[in-house]
Amino acid sequence: MKDFFGFDGMDEAQIRTERAKAREMRKSRWWQQKTASGKCYYCGQAVPFKELTMDHLVPLTRGGRSTRDNLVPSCKICNNEKKNMLPLEWEEYMEMLNLQKSS
Ligand SMILES: [Zn+2]
Repeated sequence: MKDFFGFDGMDEAQIRTERAKAREMRKSRWWQQKTASGKCYYCGQAVPFKELTMDHLVPLTRGGRSTRDNLVPSCKICNNEKKNMLPLEWEEYMEMLNLQKSS
């Protein structure tokens, strides 16, 4: 899949490798600790462990890797929204969430 902005730093084989790595990390103690609070990284909502998804802060299609600082727990809603949005739209979404949190 070609990225919207024509970024093609990662080929599909690399993306598959990174996805497999992420799956392995999902089983790790590190991930258990990371998700112990049960909160979505983005909206801060408490989510049952089963419903927390593992999200790449920088998507693989944009050159992000399956590293500890690039993986965050996300609720399904945020995860879906993020996938469907352009980076700019996503920033607006995050701003909206921040406003809701502070009000
Ligand atoms: Zn969320």
